[in-house]
Amino acid sequence: MAKTAVITGITGQDGAYLAQFLLTKGYNVVGVARRSSHYGVATHRLDWLGISNDVTIVDGDLLDLGGLCRIIKEYKPDEIYNLAAQSFVKTSWEQPALTAQATGVGVVNVLEAMRLEAPNARFYQASSSEMYGLIQEDRQSEKTPFYPRSPYAAAKLFGHWMTVNFRESFGLHCSSGILFNHESPLRGREFVTRKVTDGVAKIALGLTDELRLGNMDAKRDWGHAKDYVRAMWLMLQQTVPDDYVVATGVTCTVRSMVEVAFRHVGLDPDQYVKIDQAFFRPAEVDVLLGNPEKAQKTLGWTAEISMEEMIKEMVDADLQRNKSNLP
Ligand code: NAP
Ligand code: GDP
Repeated sequence: MAKTAVITGITGQDGAYLAQFLLTKGYNVVGVARRSSHYGVATHRLDWLGISNDVTIVDGDLLDLGGLCRIIKEYKPDEIYNLAAQSFVKTSWEQPALTAQATGVGVVNVLEAMRLEAPNARFYQASSSEMYGLIQEDRQSEKTPFYPRSPYAAAKLFGHWMTVNFRESFGLHCSSGILFNHESPLRGREFVTRKVTDGVAKIALGLTDELRLGNMDAKRDWGHAKDYVRAMWLMLQQTVPDDYVVATGVTCTVRSMVEVAFRHVGLDPDQYVKIDQAFFRPAEVDVLLGNPEKAQKTLGWTAEISMEEMIKEMVDADLQRNKSNLP
């Protein structure tokens, strides 16, 4: 019989790719999406992948425990992927209380709904490398101590430990993926990779002549969302639930990522990039570099798409979108 998966955050980047991946595995995919005053649900990412009509969308919000319980009771999922969050670090300083609610307490609401209505389901929590913040080891693994540097990271850390505690206290099948930055043509435009690839596409098409950025020296371990949703699924196929770092094991500066994007269209970034204080943060995570050995050994997972390949794919997608006015 086909398995059922509930995905919170299905309208986001990872939700869309995970839904696509699970559909290819024969799952019934139920996506939880927030009601908005705009007609219908924001399905542009699912539309881009051509799967909007293949998933069931239900109204739900991470802040509403009752609604989550009703969804879990009705669909009795085999697997629950909690991807919903206020996910943008910079916004978390403007809206720390909302971030604590959605990104932190929201996790407990989904865990509680599962405990009450589907205790035999398997649960995935979208934890984040941002929890390492002011890094305590050069290469961060599951054993590296955390040091969150933003309201977002602090909220994620709460969600992470609640996931561990629901596993250890109640014996639920709860796993947490400590995912390093992952991007794709479906990444939100506020994140630096997509901002850059969209900006490069607009410059190449003559729609603008500058790209304003913040800290070009920050380093990230960037992978592709398509690779990373596979790791999420693999975690829930294990008999024993656990926590895993998911990363490429390669880090590079914002500057060199920008270089890859501009060179792809034959342009020189120095002519277009302007440094703007508005895009610096009250506290920075200077460098992240993941050690994915455990995921490689236990899950048989490795990142297949390099940062360079991904950035070129993103620039190409943004050229196409900007030419045809797609969202
Ligand atoms: P994303 O594109 O920003 O998607 C976030 C999703 O959460 C959207 O579907 C959004 O819905 C939904 N959401 C926000 N608040 C909600 C609420 N109160 N109730 C219900 N849904 C809500 O994020 P992503 O890049 O796909 O990331 C997926 C998850 O992984 C997030 O939890 C993120 O923090 C985490 N993560 C991401 C990365 C990364 O590099 N991408 C790395 C580590 C961890 P709307 O469409 O209505 O806004
Ligand atoms: P994060 O790692 O989850 O915060 O992902 P982002 O893509 O938002 O930021 C990655 C890094 O790029 C951070 O160190 C930012 O300070 C840096 N960065 C530099 N310029 C920008 C910018 O204009 N926008 C964003 N979002 N980040 C920038």
